[in-house]
Amino acid sequence: MELGEAQAMMRRIYYHKDSKRGPGKTWEWLMEEVRELGEAIEAGDERAIEAEFADVLAWLASLANVVGIDLERAFLSKYPGRCPKCGRTVCMCATG
Ligand SMILES: [Zn+2]
Repeated sequence: MELGEAQAMMRRIYYHKDSKRGPGKTWEWLMEEVRELGEAIEAGDERAIEAEFADVLAWLASLANVVGIDLERAFLSKYPGRCPKCGRTVCMCATG
């Protein structure tokens, strides 16, 4: 499955609810899932980490649907197989 397909799947399943909730509340859900991912990593709970990564991607896709962003296009536009800062395929930036 490609990123665009994942976003389309989330649209099919949840857009009727996501669009009613709106961008602000959907963003809050995404932030909650990011927090839970951090907690799972902190706890070293492999199953929870996997589940929280899925939730973060799901809510990111929902938020993109609500605000009308094509995630795959946006991602590839900024990250076309190389670092957007140094332009190399293996990042040679001094920091990060
Ligand atoms: Zn770089």
